[in-house]
Amino acid sequence: MESEEQIEASAQLCAETGVRVLRAGCYKPRSSPYTFQGLGLNGLLLLDKMRQRFGLRIITEIRDSSHAEEVIEYADIIQVGAKAMYDQSVLRRCGKSNKPVLLKRGFGSTLQEFVQAAEFVLSGGNSQVMLCERGIRTFETKTRFTLDLCGAVWLKKHTNLPVIIDPSHAIGFAYGVADLSRASLALGVDGLLIETHPNPPAALSDAEQQLNFDEFRELKNSLSTLATALGRKLI
Ligand code: PEP
Ligand code: MN
Repeated sequence: MESEEQIEASAQLCAETGVRVLRAGCYKPRSSPYTFQGLGLNGLLLLDKMRQRFGLRIITEIRDSSHAEEVIEYADIIQVGAKAMYDQSVLRRCGKSNKPVLLKRGFGSTLQEFVQAAEFVLSGGNSQVMLCERGIRTFETKTRFTLDLCGAVWLKKHTNLPVIIDPSHAIGFAYGVADLSRASLALGVDGLLIETHPNPPAALSDAEQQLNFDEFRELKNSLSTLATALGRKLI
């Protein structure tokens, strides 16, 4: 979430391609305090505008408990990012909310730790938790992280929660996102979280992994074709 123009173009793309949930971060957990940190409350207000204008659902992230109340108020789905997976005050606060939570796996977390983090939300009384695999850190350095598809299969077998894949953060480069998305769909995951930007080279965050809009449209079409071949329906 960078500016009104950027988010409006992205919301329009969602509406045009049949994507129902727009994800945009207003409180960004950046690796450096000197880079773009997000638009904060102004960003949430813009997301609210896009929700009303385009009839979309909004997913946005809680970085820490200092702004939990406003994120919970404006989000339709609350994202807890990889770096906040161990933040028990965030997890406990989400457990008291009646909104669905997308919990991302910490990049150094075992599946056991990931599931236990989800338990903090579930045991607080919120049964609507989605688990998002977004790549883990391995010895490999050519890709940003290593997408743990084995882990995704394990989560599907051993939990009854929806499993979502984020190929964008996993590979960290736009060129691999489409193939990893199709592999994830073939695997039977419940959803994909894909980053896109109207002008990727100018993106303020994770520029190399953003699909441009044409790439996104092409991917969405190919996912529809693949879903039909697999006897699944994209919603
Ligand atoms: C994000 O989803 O934009 C993000 C910061 O991802 P992660 O928490 O997986 O690093
Ligand atoms: Mn990101």
